[in-house]
Amino acid sequence: MSRAWIGLGGNLDEPATRLRRTLARLDQLPDTRVIRHSALYGSRPVGPADQPDFINAAAELETELTPLTLLDELQRLENEAGRVRTRHWGERTLDLDILLFDDRVVHETRLRIPHPELEHRGFVLVPLAEIAPALCLPDGRRVDHLRAACDATAVWYHGPAEAEGESH
Ligand code: ADP
Ligand code: MG
Repeated sequence: MSRAWIGLGGNLDEPATRLRRTLARLDQLPDTRVIRHSALYGSRPVGPADQPDFINAAAELETELTPLTLLDELQRLENEAGRVRTRHWGERTLDLDILLFDDRVVHETRLRIPHPELEHRGFVLVPLAEIAPALCLPDGRRVDHLRAACDATAVWYHGPAEAEGESH
């Protein structure tokens, strides 16, 4: 069994609803369950500014999948959400990134772990620090320290990940 931490994001077609649905889908992946997930956060877009604000969240998974088969499953969920890849750092219906996977360091064309932008992105570190403040990167740095050092001014609390009347 491995632990994987996933970053979720999107800014098109009711992103809060989509992220809630995606958390349920993650729990249904083969040999995988969601251990915990963060609340939903809003963030102003990084990159092109003429696009809607994002909704972001983080989830901790327990999984038997390998990093690459997990990436395949996440990309399948992105495609099911009708994800169209437009411009770099542009708008998207659903973005699912593997942030950390146990203590693994992966440098493959398709997959880099830890996610290379993890330490710079407030919209990743704020939800991740909510669920895993004491988690350490393979190099020993703690998530809550990275979160305290990053610029999180463009990230705000949006609401619980459970929709009203819905249980997780
Ligand atoms: P970003 O998430 O940086 O905004 P994309 O979602 O468009 O960019 O990802 C582009 C490519 O990044 C994907 O095709 C995937 O193969 C690759 N990639 C590399 N490392 C990771 C990772 N840790 N998690 C998810 N995708 C990754
Ligand atoms: Mg991505």
